[in-house]
Amino acid sequence: MQIEPASALLPAGTVLPPNETCEALARRLRAETEGEVLFDAGSRGRYATDASIYQIMPVGVLVPRTARDVALAIDIARDLKVPVLARGGGTSQCGQTTGAALVIDNSKHLRRVLDVDVQARTATVEPGLVLDHLNAQLKPHGLWYPVDVSTSAQATLGGMAGNNSCGSRSIAYGNMVHNVLGAQAWLSDGELVTFGPVAGLGGRAAAIADHVRRLAAQHSAEIAARWPKVMRRVAGYNLDIFYNQSEKPYTTDGSVNLAHLLVGSEGTLAITRSLTLQLAELPRAKVLGIVNFTSFHAAMDAAQHIVKLGPTAVELVDRTMIELALSNPAFRPTVETALIGRPAAILLVEFAGAEKATLLPQLRQLVELMGDLGLPGSVVQMPDDAPQKNLWDVRKAGLNIMMSLKGDGKPVSFIEDCAVPLEHLAEYTDGLTEVFAKYGSRGTWYAHASVGTLHVRPILDMRTDGGAKMRAIAEEASALVRKYKGAFSGEHGDGLCRGEWIEWQFGPAINAAFRSIKQHLDPLNLLNPGKIIDPPKMDDAALLRFAPPASPRPYQRIELKPVLDWSAWNVQADPVTEVTTPPGTGGDSTGGFAKAVEMCNNNGHCRKFDAGTMCPSYRVTRDEQHLTRGRANTLRLALSGQLGPDALASEELHATMDLCVGCKGCKRDCPTGVDMAKMKIEFLAHYKNKHGHTLKDRLVAHLPDYAHAASRLPWLANLHNRVPGAAWLGEKLLGLSRHRSLPYWRSKTFWRTRNASGFASRDALLAAAQAGQKTAVLFVDTFNGIFESENALAAARVLQAAGYLLHTVEKAGGHHCCGRTYLATGMVDEARAKAAALVAALAPFAQAGIAIVGLEPSCLLTLRDEALVMGLGEQAVTVSQQALLFEEFIAREARAGRFALALQPAGAPILLHGHCHQKAFGAVTPILDVLRLIPGAQPELIESSCCGMAGSFGYEAAHHAVSMQMAEASLLPAVRRQPDAIVVADGTSCRHQIADGAEREAVHVAVLLDRLLATPSAPA
Ligand SMILES: Cc1cc2nc3c(=O)[nH]c(=O)nc-3n(C[C@H](O)[C@H](O)[C@H](O)COP(=O)(O)OP(=O)(O)OC[C@H]3O[C@@H](n4cnc5c(N)ncnc54)[C@H](O)[C@@H]3O)c2cc1C
Ligand code: SF4
Ligand code: SF4
Repeated sequence: MQIEPASALLPAGTVLPPNETCEALARRLRAETEGEVLFDAGSRGRYATDASIYQIMPVGVLVPRTARDVALAIDIARDLKVPVLARGGGTSQCGQTTGAALVIDNSKHLRRVLDVDVQARTATVEPGLVLDHLNAQLKPHGLWYPVDVSTSAQATLGGMAGNNSCGSRSIAYGNMVHNVLGAQAWLSDGELVTFGPVAGLGGRAAAIADHVRRLAAQHSAEIAARWPKVMRRVAGYNLDIFYNQSEKPYTTDGSVNLAHLLVGSEGTLAITRSLTLQLAELPRAKVLGIVNFTSFHAAMDAAQHIVKLGPTAVELVDRTMIELALSNPAFRPTVETALIGRPAAILLVEFAGAEKATLLPQLRQLVELMGDLGLPGSVVQMPDDAPQKNLWDVRKAGLNIMMSLKGDGKPVSFIEDCAVPLEHLAEYTDGLTEVFAKYGSRGTWYAHASVGTLHVRPILDMRTDGGAKMRAIAEEASALVRKYKGAFSGEHGDGLCRGEWIEWQFGPAINAAFRSIKQHLDPLNLLNPGKIIDPPKMDDAALLRFAPPASPRPYQRIELKPVLDWSAWNVQADPVTEVTTPPGTGGDSTGGFAKAVEMCNNNGHCRKFDAGTMCPSYRVTRDEQHLTRGRANTLRLALSGQLGPDALASEELHATMDLCVGCKGCKRDCPTGVDMAKMKIEFLAHYKNKHGHTLKDRLVAHLPDYAHAASRLPWLANLHNRVPGAAWLGEKLLGLSRHRSLPYWRSKTFWRTRNASGFASRDALLAAAQAGQKTAVLFVDTFNGIFESENALAAARVLQAAGYLLHTVEKAGGHHCCGRTYLATGMVDEARAKAAALVAALAPFAQAGIAIVGLEPSCLLTLRDEALVMGLGEQAVTVSQQALLFEEFIAREARAGRFALALQPAGAPILLHGHCHQKAFGAVTPILDVLRLIPGAQPELIESSCCGMAGSFGYEAAHHAVSMQMAEASLLPAVRRQPDAIVVADGTSCRHQIADGAEREAVHVAVLLDRLLATPSAPA
């Protein structure tokens, strides 16, 4: 694989370290630090982007294990004159986390809470700690860190301080600068300096304070004249610490804190070792008032009056977002609870405090205020917690839908956080809307009305005229900001996107003062050069991730014939109406695969650890490489030729995709719907096409083919589990872990025992359906048909007991298979043949409206997912529409009043582990619904990500350790905590993992229902 020179994507004139310097840097970092040293092209590529539109290849990456590593790295980089760029979650939107530098990623190891002083309400933390993780540790003390950024699940405190981040509730709590009490940080000369209250400083810190004080005094007139007088100003350096200009002073007692100089400095002045934070009491009660407006202008105009009531948040949701949420069946009921008619916009007004009773009068005041403003009856009062949470969730989801626009035009963040005084908000938004229209675009508005910072992203295609339009819109937006005396950069920082606007905002004298601060702290210009001081043009084409054809490095896609159908992504979208062209018309030379990959906008949501599945391999490794974002970035670089020829089939890409368990967590949890499981299939097909399949691949893939024959000789097939040394041999020869037992073969398969089960013939079933009888086709997969036939037989008994006539499909010489095992090994042609045969067999029933009921989530859901992208035509679509999991079918029938069953109580608590694919398809709720049919049952869902087995993944020797770590992350401890519980798990691999890891039986929901049938039917 080629390693691109570090100069690859830099603006002209940038002085770069020569290759021998990079090599020396890597060598010394390896020799002198304990950190992970990543200088290969793939790793550098994964750190070349943040959540902005830019891309700059770093020189290399250090993932330090200790603070000492960071100190050493600064020294080594200084010796070799290589710039240094500190990084947290890499979720910045302006490009401040990209640079031709040695990137130091603090997020993996430097994430400890060093100290919490509950009395003083302070905490000292390492820079790589994620906000949500800090707040989880503070919760037992009734405290939190209240700068509640939307990216709280992935933003690190170091990055938040770097950007002077601001949360939804900044009107009550302020920005980072208002909530940082101190910092320890290294200057580029290696000195570790303690920044804190100026009164107590000595040595180097006092000298810095003196320098900044002199500058502030020298420029006091300019500061008074030019500094935006809004709270949301994050541009430049905080020269105003000595001469407050913020609506909310940085300290409550008027003192000066030098740590505030570092806040918002984007890693250009010092590298933070630790931060001391001001904590707040966790609000114990919240109430919400939703104000409905008939015009957007009225909503903007009202914000200035509403804030006087003392809310903790005033958040805007505009009509586009409301409509998006209403069009989603899952969210519609929640949104409707907030609406009065069809408003043009709503404001979510939150009041928080110690008790609900004291907050209710504030809600009433809101109602009165709206009456006074001529909008009586416009407020929906929401005092209860659950509906409030649902509504906040919907607001987030609305943004996600907006971000999932397909095509080359994307909502671009570059003026999305301009802040204007509230009295001008309405005129400002009117003016900007006109600007968008002028440039053939449109914006969806949302977020922080309370502080005059509304997020809005016009849709632009950076590959064509996006850069020119971006500049034109930015220029007109800046004129509006100036007119209304606002701040151009009000939340997301300066970076590459807004750096050039610093001088525009503050004027040449203050800009020179900023330069003087930089020179005083970092005379070598070692720390994140090109940010804040000497920034490039925002539309410098050499810096764009998707650079246009005329640029030095135009973004190009390779020619590729994909094995799956990606045409749904191969479209273009109208920037105003967002209507997309038909599938396949988007001009993507990879048939849409590249465009699907490019959906990743690097927002970093896949770095989360909370509820949901995404991304199990990141959760156990914390490596950027083993993260959905890292994979998408590597694929994008490969598909655009930036990792050299044939990179798609390279070992680098194999290593990057290897730990992806294909759980489809990202398909559901990623805001833009990046479906890495499907991408892994596409990758594997190309990789295996070049490198060939291993014996293990063949054994796994062809399991459905030989399963019937092997099950006739179970004693032979089970030797692996019985004969000493066989497992060891299996590991040596096949790569199957010797620590795993393999599924047990039995001769009594479903196919050999089902005759007694009363299945109807094909014609009898079709006739019965036509006659209005209750019917279903039971699709029995390889696993439930061969290894765990009791599941299929139990399902049949349960459905028959509820009065359903059943049929099952088979073919001459065996059973049908969905093709999953072939997909898992990249044998797409074979998978297509299997799936085609299955679809053809099921189609007549699907066409007759008969449900296809399956037991194994990964198999049944293949019919609703991969079978639709294998070129199987309309038949596959018809089948997919009737394909239901056993529990989905029962839940649906029960809702329709067609399903009733006499069941006995379970007699024990029930614990449920959802299969990842069930979660991805929203099929966990139906299992809970079905389990609640059991008298007295209160099933408890285990909050788990992937079980770690994931088909054959966990059986493989190379993956055994990671597989167990995934299981131990939450599933196995939860199972062990309840030794008496009945464990329900519908996935065959999940059951195996639970048996292996916790030595507990887990059962398919069909088996549990069958065991609890009040009048057991005759055994089959
Ligand atoms: C979808 C989305 C929503 C967002 N919502 C918000 C929001 O509500 N409010 C908000 O303010 N921002 C928001 N952001 C922007 C971003 O998430 C925040 O600024 C966040 O705090 C950045 O944290 P991070 O760990 O990703 O920082 P990074 O991007 O990794 O770094 C940010 C800056 O800090 C510097 N830095 C990092 N660590 C150090 C260190 N140890 N020493 C010195 N400098 C360091 C970096 O060099 C960089 O300049 C959003 C972004 C996205 C994509
Ligand atoms: S994969 Fe999805 S969640 Fe992860 S960074 Fe990309 S867009 Fe965000
Ligand atoms: S499929 Fe699962 S493991 Fe793979 S990237 Fe997505 S969330 Fe991560």
